[in-house]
Amino acid sequence: MQHTHLTRDDVDLFLDDEGSEVSRRLFLHLLAVCPECYKAGGAILEAYLVGDLKLDFDGLDAMFALTRAEALASVDKLMAKASRAPAMAGAWDALAKAQALFDGGSRDEATLKKILGLLAQGLYALSFNLGGGS
Ligand SMILES: [Zn+2]
Repeated sequence: MQHTHLTRDDVDLFLDDEGSEVSRRLFLHLLAVCPECYKAGGAILEAYLVGDLKLDFDGLDAMFALTRAEALASVDKLMAKASRAPAMAGAWDALAKAQALFDGGSRDEATLKKILGLLAQGLYALSFNLGGGS
């Protein structure tokens, strides 16, 4: 059992459930103590540690923290490869708008959909321009 770590699919399943505060605390503890499990969902722990998530977080908030961290990590990787391509301006623009909306703090459904749409648009444009792949 000590070698059966969380996968990203496990994290998605966990976030789909209502869950109790105890289960969320155990989940965060696991992310904190196990580096392998941390790889699957560490962004959720980070969001909790900086106060973006409270212990009563719901799955959508946590999923958003995770998706955002993964998107930003992809952007960092792509940025290194693509910084000299002027055709990328639209992609950077979409990602910057998503960041600004997120930092605006509004978490209503319409805003979340807009942010996810902008992230998808920006990442799609980046991966398309780079010939696909992450
Ligand atoms: Zn583990």
